[in-house]
Amino acid sequence: MQKSNHLSRRTFLAGAATAALAGAASRALATTDATPVTPNPAEPAVLEEFPYGDVELTGGPLKAQYDRVHASYLALSNDRLLRVYRERTGRPAPGTPMGGWYGRNGFVPGHSLGQYISGLARIGRTTSDPDCHAKVAELVEGFAATMGPKDVVFAAPNAQNLWPCYILDKHLIGLMDAYQLSGVQQAFELLPRVYHGATPYIPQHGHDRIGKSKPPYDETYILPENLFSAWQLTGDRAMHQRAVAYLLNRDYFDPLARDQDVLPGKHAYSHAMALSSAAKARLVLGEEKYLATIQNAWEFLRTGQQYASGGWGPNELFVQPNQGKLYESLTTTHDHFETPCGTYAATKLARYLLRATGESRYADNLERVVFNALLMVKEPDSNGDYFYYSNYAADAQKGYYPQKWPCCSGTLVQGVADYVKNIYFRSHNGLAVTLYAPSRIRFSSTARPSPSNSTQPTRNLKI
Ligand SMILES: [Zn+2]
Repeated sequence: MQKSNHLSRRTFLAGAATAALAGAASRALATTDATPVTPNPAEPAVLEEFPYGDVELTGGPLKAQYDRVHASYLALSNDRLLRVYRERTGRPAPGTPMGGWYGRNGFVPGHSLGQYISGLARIGRTTSDPDCHAKVAELVEGFAATMGPKDVVFAAPNAQNLWPCYILDKHLIGLMDAYQLSGVQQAFELLPRVYHGATPYIPQHGHDRIGKSKPPYDETYILPENLFSAWQLTGDRAMHQRAVAYLLNRDYFDPLARDQDVLPGKHAYSHAMALSSAAKARLVLGEEKYLATIQNAWEFLRTGQQYASGGWGPNELFVQPNQGKLYESLTTTHDHFETPCGTYAATKLARYLLRATGESRYADNLERVVFNALLMVKEPDSNGDYFYYSNYAADAQKGYYPQKWPCCSGTLVQGVADYVKNIYFRSHNGLAVTLYAPSRIRFSSTARPSPSNSTQPTRNLKI
């Protein structure tokens, strides 16, 4: 390893057959020219993500939070998590009711089970903690036991009015991560059953979010990313078709691709999250318009919506840009950024953009939102109290959301588990360092032709 005094994210480590990089050493990796990689739409990937398990945190504040989140979610009671599903079946349902959003009469009963499974599987693969994998397997088995012969996958009897797409999205990622990261074979077998069990409750075609007063209050447009991934894993064509049907093209992705700012007034988190579906659609369908969609959306977010922290969406809405609305919001609300959910969406988008372009500005923004937003959330307690909104008002205090087990309880564990995905990427000439954090990576450098020189596809794009 050589050290350089002129370091930036544009520096790459090249040629190492195997590298173990730790701590501050990761700041000093430069053996090649610092030329940024040129975006090339013909080549779907400039940078590649490393899989869970290749990177681990070794110290510092990110690891400290990671370890606390690891312990907190590992300590959740399986009986409590499964209770709302067991209650629907009439089966014995031990454990104290969870209440809040998750409970039987909650806002979205059972909504985040898949996210807890997902986060634990990711942490289990990264840390090799057998307790995480065991818990993932027990939760999958416990959930499967409640589905019955009709493959009922929702906790609420009136599931069609209680966010079925939102919950299905979480179920899918939980099962995919349980299978791929924790090795739970049952999760793979459940994927098509869960999808087809959900279809009577979800619409044929996607739509933008509509108000609470007129159910279904749901977010079809966040689903394509995980539907495409589930199709890639299972080969079930119906999932692919539904993913295509749910792409929010006319009202959102297409105008963004034409550089029209259609963000103002939209629900912030879910529409930021939907950009991951556009990015996934580009990889699966090969339609380059989606690169323009996510690049332009990212620029609109950066220039018209962001606070200094990297957060956005006062009262969960994108504002009209360049009218002082963000400044005004500092005194008109305390609900400035839906932090774990919003950060999860922002970091996923940043990684898709890094993969597609290799441009370091996306890593700069990723760093901003990780360190200023997700890292500073209040620690969860053991009974459903979670951090939700960052408060940027002059009299700001850091507190829990009034209702237990909110959406951000699901994205907190996923987003923190993904810290290891944000630090390094594989480039055509070695390694790109995209986030500075004490960490270690073990990887084999298999020479891969430069995208600009390649005449043949060099990789499988499916993730
Ligand atoms: Zn949330």
